[in-house]
Amino acid sequence: MKYFGAHVSAAGGVENAPLNAAAIGAGAFALFTKNQRQWVAAPLSAAGIEAFRANCERLGYASRHILPHDSYLINLGHPEEEALEKSRAAFLDEMRRCEQLGLSMLNFHPGSHLQQISVDKCLDRIAESINIALGKTRGVTAVIENTAGQGSNVGHRFEQLARIIDRVEDKSRVGVCIDTCHAFAAGYNLSTTEACDRTFAELDRTVGLGYLRGMHLNDSMKGLDSHVDRHQSLGEGALGITVFRYIAADPRFDDLPLILETPDESRWPGEIAELYRLAGQNRE
Ligand SMILES: [Zn+2]
Ligand SMILES: [Zn+2]
Repeated sequence: MKYFGAHVSAAGGVENAPLNAAAIGAGAFALFTKNQRQWVAAPLSAAGIEAFRANCERLGYASRHILPHDSYLINLGHPEEEALEKSRAAFLDEMRRCEQLGLSMLNFHPGSHLQQISVDKCLDRIAESINIALGKTRGVTAVIENTAGQGSNVGHRFEQLARIIDRVEDKSRVGVCIDTCHAFAAGYNLSTTEACDRTFAELDRTVGLGYLRGMHLNDSMKGLDSHVDRHQSLGEGALGITVFRYIAADPRFDDLPLILETPDESRWPGEIAELYRLAGQNRE
């Protein structure tokens, strides 16, 4: 069974995210548990936590179908000590918020070397950052997202994701989220069925599909290997509809949160309904 959704707003409180997801017919959702463009946020209130858990339960959202995303400011591979510590503290806070909300995953972009350290050194720092956070929390899996490889962002090659996982001590609490736009922009073709076969076989060979905890379903405004991270509505970008039809029909992507981050929110109900139709799942 497939679980499609979108990265919905948590404005006014995290407890609103499941309501916003239900309103667009989503079976899964993503959210920010704090303002993604600020370093510090007020702690979650007991009432907010309670209401979030109650809304998820009432609307049928299990934690394995909820994929919170961390702040864009965090760089777990930062080359400078002080900035690295700041990112690690912010990441730990995000992990703890997930713990409090009863969530089992936190999705994040691995980091950037900022042209100051090598890619491998940056990847090793990220793994160490994950080890520190996992050592101080329980029950939350660190879910690394592949990137488009824009600027000095690492994590655009599947081998880089594999290197991080290899250095994480608790393999039961590390996973990956594959963003279709990012993969395509990073040079992994997904525009035909054969290309999808090859790319997912390569993912399985390098990382292992057993580590897949979720996917971001986005078309791409820019072309293959462009290294530009610009999402587009499904079927309207350089990727086209094929990859989304492929994922919807493939049981390897069952039971995962499959999340839209497409730019036109007004189209999410239609996009979600279409994905369910492609999966052959009728939703009342
Ligand atoms: Zn992301
Ligand atoms: Zn994404």
